[in-house]
Amino acid sequence: MTDLQDRNDKGWATTRFVVLGFGTAGYACADSLLQVGAEYVTVLDDRDNEALREKAQILETLGATIRLGPGSTAELPAEVDVVVTSPGIPPHAPLLAAAAERDLPIWGEIELAWRLRDPANAAPWLCVTGTNGKTTTVQMLTSILTAAGKRAVAAGNVGLPLLEVVMDPEPYDVIAVELSSYQLHFTHSMSAHSAAVLNLAPDHVDWHGSMDAYAKDKGRIYQNCQVACVYNVADPATEQLVMDADVIEGCRAIGFTLGTPAISMVGLVDELLVDRAFVEQRASSALELATIEDITPPAPHNVANALAAAALARAYGVPASAVREGLRAFRLDAHRIAQVAEVAGVNYVDDSKATNPHAAQASLLAYEHVVWIAGGQAKGATFDELVTAAKDRLRGVVLLGQDKQVIAEALARHAPDVPVITVDATDTGAMEIVVGEATKLARVGDTVLLAPGCASWDMFANYGARGDAFAQAVHRLGDH
Ligand code: ADP
Repeated sequence: MTDLQDRNDKGWATTRFVVLGFGTAGYACADSLLQVGAEYVTVLDDRDNEALREKAQILETLGATIRLGPGSTAELPAEVDVVVTSPGIPPHAPLLAAAAERDLPIWGEIELAWRLRDPANAAPWLCVTGTNGKTTTVQMLTSILTAAGKRAVAAGNVGLPLLEVVMDPEPYDVIAVELSSYQLHFTHSMSAHSAAVLNLAPDHVDWHGSMDAYAKDKGRIYQNCQVACVYNVADPATEQLVMDADVIEGCRAIGFTLGTPAISMVGLVDELLVDRAFVEQRASSALELATIEDITPPAPHNVANALAAAALARAYGVPASAVREGLRAFRLDAHRIAQVAEVAGVNYVDDSKATNPHAAQASLLAYEHVVWIAGGQAKGATFDELVTAAKDRLRGVVLLGQDKQVIAEALARHAPDVPVITVDATDTGAMEIVVGEATKLARVGDTVLLAPGCASWDMFANYGARGDAFAQAVHRLGDH
């Protein structure tokens, strides 16, 4: 039954699907399957609450079987042809291990979305993954595609489920797809028009089992790629993933770089973003796409994301003028190097979305003199590389949260002269103390940067709440 190709395939009705997890993704999967006529859809989730039961009722009226509550996922039903899983569930979870043992196909929501595209009206997918910068890059790409007059949308891990887009009766011209490593793990037959891996650094390694497995899962984005595999010249591991992938004949490897681009790359020449990939293949040819000033803010990692977005857009055939227009119109989402205020000559920046050391390092390197606010749940990450790279910029550091000691130890090893203040408070007033201490360390012209390098869940509901607490504390400073 697993040779189901697309939604016109008659086999959907008779295939027996088990959907694991009844969150946003699980609901979208079950709902879409019912819409294409699947008659055997069972959803399993250990949780049970009012909201889930309400959603269950809707799908039950459409013919699905929903099992909620403790024990629901204890055993994989005997009668099943395909297991559809949700992103939070690791591959070693007992039900998935049982499915693998029975040689059952396991699809993620992306695999399902790929198979449910309307073949008569299938918009090409421009796909983005990487440890950091995914959301920004797909949003920049969407802005560029829209500037080119296309009906484009950002979907996938960015928030809007890809299944919803694929099932939308009003077709899109093109889709900018953000993919997480979780989603890629269970993606098998996808064939992106073009795809990019922005960078690779340790994150979510527990879920994947090892760094190697994590990288391999990211690399699945290039599998069967049609036109361009975009990689980061500064991160050779991304180029290696291109070399390891089986792509459609004629598909090209295109690098992006903050340096001067060689042929088959996009990059920078002084302040200009230039394309040496999708122009005539002559040694001298280069096409100006935009200037650094078109990107707000022109922090190096943000420029790198813009180059990756430009490469994907150019692969799709977008003219240079639309690249410039799209980048000019684009503004970063909240909590990503967001300017909060300038108080007494000190600049306060909220990069609460920097939830791993690789992201925090990128933002630290965008400022000359920084008081760095960091800490939270480190998820097993190490901070040695970050501290070594950024130590000359650090005016001081203020640490908070569960794993502050891990960061303090890295600072003691590599930057013993940098003043470090640790704040033990974990209540709602903690951020005010942190901002007060950071302000004491800062000099006029410095930047106080919240780039925690850690997840926020030990003290806050999410990274947004952490950034809001920071901004509120900064605004209160201004009131004094
Ligand atoms: P993602 O969707 O991959 O989490 P975002 O675009 O939301 O990425 O950015 C998250 C954080 O990652 C930003 O706040 C910034 O600190 C950092 N970041 C963004 N782009 C890059 C990049 N190209 N390289 C390293 N870090 C980056």
